[in-house]
Amino acid sequence: MDFSLSEDQDLMVQAVREVMTRENWEPYFAKCDATHEYPQRWVSELAAIGIDTILLPPEHGGLDAGWTTIAAVWEELGRLGCPTYVLYQLPTLETVVRVGTAEQQEKILSLVGTGEQIWNFAMTEPGAGSSFAAMSTTYTRRDGKVYLNGHKTYITSSKHVPYLVVMARNAEDMSQYSEFFVDMSAPGITLEPLEKLGLRMDSCCEVYFDDVELGEQDMFGAEGEGFARTVADFDLERFLVAACDYGWALCAFEDAARYANQRVQGGEAIARYQLIQEKFANMKIALTNMRNMVYEVAWKADNGLLGKGDASMAKLYCTRAAAQVVDDAIQVLGGLGVTGEHRAARFYRDLRVERISGGTDEMMILTAGRAALKDFR
Ligand SMILES: Cc1cc2nc3c(=O)[nH]c(=O)nc-3n(C[C@H](O)[C@H](O)[C@H](O)COP(=O)(O)OP(=O)(O)OC[C@H]3O[C@@H](n4cnc5c(N)ncnc54)[C@H](O)[C@@H]3O)c2cc1C
Repeated sequence: MDFSLSEDQDLMVQAVREVMTRENWEPYFAKCDATHEYPQRWVSELAAIGIDTILLPPEHGGLDAGWTTIAAVWEELGRLGCPTYVLYQLPTLETVVRVGTAEQQEKILSLVGTGEQIWNFAMTEPGAGSSFAAMSTTYTRRDGKVYLNGHKTYITSSKHVPYLVVMARNAEDMSQYSEFFVDMSAPGITLEPLEKLGLRMDSCCEVYFDDVELGEQDMFGAEGEGFARTVADFDLERFLVAACDYGWALCAFEDAARYANQRVQGGEAIARYQLIQEKFANMKIALTNMRNMVYEVAWKADNGLLGKGDASMAKLYCTRAAAQVVDDAIQVLGGLGVTGEHRAARFYRDLRVERISGGTDEMMILTAGRAALKDFR
């Protein structure tokens, strides 16, 4: 399979590389991570070169550049130590064009190019994580209005996004799962921020809805279609996680390789020791597999060939393989890797969270396993 980039894809990679050479961004990322701050200045620079329009169709000012472009850009940004996880919402802007009303599209698309946090989706509740069956957030129709009541949890970006798409069940027919486009400044919404082990440059909150008044025009997509819409977008989310994880593993590997070649112990560069070389062999194998998987999933998506378990398989494999690569890299870095917050330590924390957010390892196994078996029924 030929994974070489087209001229446009190559130009996009060069453009992000150029942004990254404008300054040494690592102190900024380290500060944002330590203070739990969204790296707005960095995302704004990327938005200025069109990263947020990467999947938007041309009629909405987009590049419609496909998943392979995402793979290449995320790989390069990851390799350079960037918190690519905070960019997750940018490729999802395409969803508003596919599903949203003209008014919802206008609200979301007017923020393109700013680098600001725009929106996110809220499904998870204290009683409904891997399974939506016990979801208890409801919407009720009263006097020509719709009222939203319930409690969502672990909602990424919810501290700053102006809009949240919230899944709720019809109080009169609990079999109907629908989504609502909620303006976060509406009365009746309260937030409680949560601490996180990793992915700290983005917020994560409990979100409470107490009789939040909406109108029929605020429904996102058709009534009863919320569950299907969510599932349809899972693959993109899982692919993005895999691409982020692979990129950070590549960065940690390169940091460790440079260090191993120059760090002298016992009169030799540590790279000369076979126990260290073994780690690099294992890291390189894992990186090769991750790269192949990320690019293959992207290629399949761009060619309409994405299978049901492909993105889940990539998320499962890449989160685990990247965690092992970063672990090996930290071992090579010795004390440097675990004190003073080397960026590899940040990736280590971020990767642990990635095995739960966006669907747990176990859910990825179940999806990938079912898909593998289906062909032989
Ligand atoms: C940092 C972060 C950000 C998030 N952002 C969002 C967001 O923006 N929007 C949103 O809606 N959600 C978000 N989530 C929620 C995330 O999708 C859920 O945490 C995840 O789906 C797991 O749900 P849970 O935490 O309730 O765990 P549970 O579902 O309670 O699972 C606990 C354990 O049991 C296992 N388990 C559960 N069911 C089964 C089964 N059938 N078979 C085998 N094992 C099983 C799980 O794999 C896990 O190991 C986020 C979570 C985190 C941690």
